[in-house]
Amino acid sequence: MLACNFGDLENEIKMVNNSKANWFHIDVMDGVFVPNISFGTPIMNVLKKYAKKPLDVHLMIVNPDKYLEKFAELGSEVLTVHIEACTHLHRTVQKIKSLNMKAGVAINPHTPVSSLESIITEVDLVCVMSVNPGFGGQSFIDSTYQKVKDLKLLIEKYKSKALIEIDGGVNSENATKLTEQGADVLVAGSFVFKSDNPTNTISTLSTLIN
Ligand code: ZN
Repeated sequence: MLACNFGDLENEIKMVNNSKANWFHIDVMDGVFVPNISFGTPIMNVLKKYAKKPLDVHLMIVNPDKYLEKFAELGSEVLTVHIEACTHLHRTVQKIKSLNMKAGVAINPHTPVSSLESIITEVDLVCVMSVNPGFGGQSFIDSTYQKVKDLKLLIEKYKSKALIEIDGGVNSENATKLTEQGADVLVAGSFVFKSDNPTNTISTLSTLIN
């Protein structure tokens, strides 16, 4: 939703409701963990009110532990924190699950897949950042393909049920290859919202990955 038109948020949400998208992906940025501020509670409240599909919330913030209850109240179904922002990641993941949300862990482009080894059996989703987080509309980093392959192997090795989500620069050029390498969830922002017909763009993307 980061790439949507916030001046017409209600209709943008309705477009997604009526499209083939499965989830709403919501990027919360604090201007500290990433060099940009996106939005917080007021926008989340609008999403909660109108969205008819699960809210997949991606916290790009420092000290996410302070806000886990808040994002549960705001209707998050999946809550993802950054491994780079969590000193006590295991505790954070358990807390998210205790609040009846699915727990996700995101890794920045420089963070190796091996850093997930001790948490992979505990998480419901791993979000692989395929751009440096902070802004919409950036170009896809090609080394992501290898990372997805490695992550898939790690998940199989530990018999984890974690979904692999790709976040950043997803488009019709890379969607098929990403799912072939093992990606389960693709986040598309600018590619959808900046296109002439977002509903059709979502349909095209979903055809490419099924
Ligand atoms: Zn995101």
